[in-house]
Parts: sequence; C-alpha cells; structure tokens
Amino acid sequence: MEQNQKRSEYLKHSQEKDIRTQAGSLTGKRMIIRVDTNTSLGEDGKVDPGEDWRIQRILPTLEFLRNEGAKVVVLAHQGRKPEESTYPIWEYLAERLPVSFQGSYEREKLEPVLSQMENGDLIFMENVRRFPGEKENDPSYLQTLIDWAELYVNEAFSASHRKHASLVALPKLIPERYLGIQHVREIEELMRFLSFPKQGKTLVLGGAKFGTKLPLIEKMLPEADHILLGGALANAVLKARGFAIGKSLVDDSVDVRKLAESDTILLPIDYVDEHGDIAPISQVGEEHMILDTGPETEELYRRIIRSGSATLWNGPMGKYEGGYVSGSIAIAEAMAESKGYRITGGGDTSTVILEQGLEDDFDFISTGGGAMLEFLVHESLPATNIILSS
Ligand code: ADP
Ligand code: MG
Repeated sequence: MEQNQKRSEYLKHSQEKDIRTQAGSLTGKRMIIRVDTNTSLGEDGKVDPGEDWRIQRILPTLEFLRNEGAKVVVLAHQGRKPEESTYPIWEYLAERLPVSFQGSYEREKLEPVLSQMENGDLIFMENVRRFPGEKENDPSYLQTLIDWAELYVNEAFSASHRKHASLVALPKLIPERYLGIQHVREIEELMRFLSFPKQGKTLVLGGAKFGTKLPLIEKMLPEADHILLGGALANAVLKARGFAIGKSLVDDSVDVRKLAESDTILLPIDYVDEHGDIAPISQVGEEHMILDTGPETEELYRRIIRSGSATLWNGPMGKYEGGYVSGSIAIAEAMAESKGYRITGGGDTSTVILEQGLEDDFDFISTGGGAMLEFLVHESLPATNIILSS
C-alpha cells in the first residue's frame, strides 16, 4: 500500500510539471525541447511511413508550444553513428508543421538565427550526438542555447534513462523545466500497470539479452501472478532447469538460478526449430535451435493473458525478423482480445503490433524499450528526475 502511495505522489508531481500547466504564459518564451525522434530510416534515407510512431508522439507537444506562441528550439539524436543526421526527421516534420532546420551550433551562426525568431517559430537542430560532449554529459557545445533559453521541456521519455548532456546537464542550467505531454502520459501508464494488484497481473518478456530485463523479473517475482518468458531469454532459464537447448541462442552473462526455481515463471513447453518443425521442449536435439514458441505454448500463454487483469509485454517471442513470428503474433492477439489492461513497448515489440494492425486494441504502446524497462525497475529515470527535482 505504501508503495502505491509513493507511486501516486510521483505521478502527481509529474503532472504538476506537465508543460500544459503553463498554458497562457508561454507567449514569446525562449525554450529548448529535447525530443526522441530516433527512427530507423528506409533504404532511400527517408522516414518510412510505418516507422514514424516515435515522431507522431511528439507532435501534440510541438503543436501546443506553437499555438502558445513560444520560440522553440528542438534537440534530438539520430542513429548510432555521430555522422547520422536529423535532417530526414526534419523533412518528415516539415510536411506536418512549419519548422526550419539548423545545422550549426556555432555561436556566430546560431545567435543571429535565434535573435530573428518570432513567436510560434520552431527550429529543428542537427543530431546532438555529433558532439562527443553529448554522451559525456558535457553541455559546453550547447552554450549558445544555454545563454538564450528561459525554459526547457523534456519530451524524450524513451531517452531519459541516458545521462547525456541534452537530457541531464542541460536542464540544470535553464531556469524553468517541464515535461512534455507524451512524457507525462508514459509515467501515468507505467505507474498504472505497476499499481495493479498481484492477482491476474502478467509480465511477458522475450528478446535476446537480459540486461535490464533481469532486474525487472527479479523485482516483479513477488508482484506478478505470472511471468511468461519467450525468445532467447527463455533458453537461459530452460538451460538452468536442466533442459538441453542444442545450438539455440542464449544469454549466458547472468545468473538465472533464482528464476529457474520460481513457479511464477512459465517457460515454453514446445518450440519451432530452424526447419519450421514443432517438437516438445524436452526434445531439443544437439544440432537444433529454438527459434520460436510452439502452438501449445501459444495456447498456454494466450489463456493466461486473456484472463489476466493487466499485462505488460516487451521483447519478441522468437527470431521474428527471420520469419519466426508466430509466438509474438499469439501474444499480440491474446492481448488485443483481453479485457484487462494492455501495455507494451520497445522497438521490436511495437513493430509486431503495428504490422498486425493491433495498435488500437492496446491501452498504451510506450515509446521506450530500454527506458520503459528501467522506469519499471526504478520507478524513475535520471533525466525525468532532473525536471521533478526543481
Ligand atoms: P528488445 O529489442 O525487444 O529489447 P532484445 O534486443 O533483447 O529485445 O532482442 C530482440 C532480438 O531477439 C530480436 O532480434 C529477435 O530476433 C531475437 N530473438 C528472440 N528470440 C530468439 C530466438 N529464439 N533465437 C534467436 N534470436 C531470438
Ligand atoms: Mg533490441
């Protein structure tokens, strides 16, 4: 109970920091908004219409700030390599609202642009990760903007687990700080899932690497009714329970003995191998690979999800990009059919749901993969906390 009280206080605090609370007082305000529009581009180097979900989610906040007559500079990162550009993201945005692109952070070039901004103007900046200072949390490359800005908005929930300059060091140097509309919604929805009572509460995890999924599983063991595992994650626990897993992918970097001993954790009972053949999980031959969950597992997992009160899913149940997508589709469909609360997140997982056209049957699709998992574990994120602690 006390835990849920802490949660509702954190939620209330976040809602008090919602930028919408400032409506009517933002005209002419000079502000920086950090967004996460990181998107995998098509072969033509442009935003694919099916991959635009992250960009879509920041539009309401940009529209709000524009209508309020603020002067808005937008910061974002793109891709993994510093050479990558936010220009294709800007091109996509520019078809939806008036916004200009600014490639240079140098004072001589940026200052004149800033001084000519009018109320309601939006400027989209080049990739912040062009500067080594970004990942080192050294904001000196942002000095011109720091000298200019009066207000900072974090609308980058999905990047807020990173201690980077534009997310952590920068907001501390700006007088006023707020959260974007989507950021507040993310906190509301994740807190809602956490606050459900144990009975009927289900966590579904797949994918390849344990990383933050292990701390999440360990935290949820006493809080969830069922934890359904798939993907290569399940292989590690199968192995720890003494099953042969042949040549299957397995993350051996963590100690999963505690998971192997728990009744809350369910594992696949049958599987699909590299020939598409189905067999019981107790019969994985030395030369074989577990690449997806089989139909009996799907039925078992479906039953639990359909009758559950709240389900959260992250990570594919099989090697879906190789066509082993049946297990993931079963989870997506079962969640769509469930009358309980349904929430999901992460790039791979969202792709499956969007491809199946099931997005409207979910209560919430988080923009965060890593950020969502980290929020669930710590019930806070480093960059979010900078906003809340002011
Ligand atoms: P997420 O991106 O959802 O956080 P991960 O990055 O941990 O999840 O893993 C996603 C990857 O896991 C996908 O590329 C998927 O193909 C792979 N994967 C899932 N199940 C298997 C499996 N049984 N064998 C091999 N790869 C798998
Ligand atoms: Mg991944």
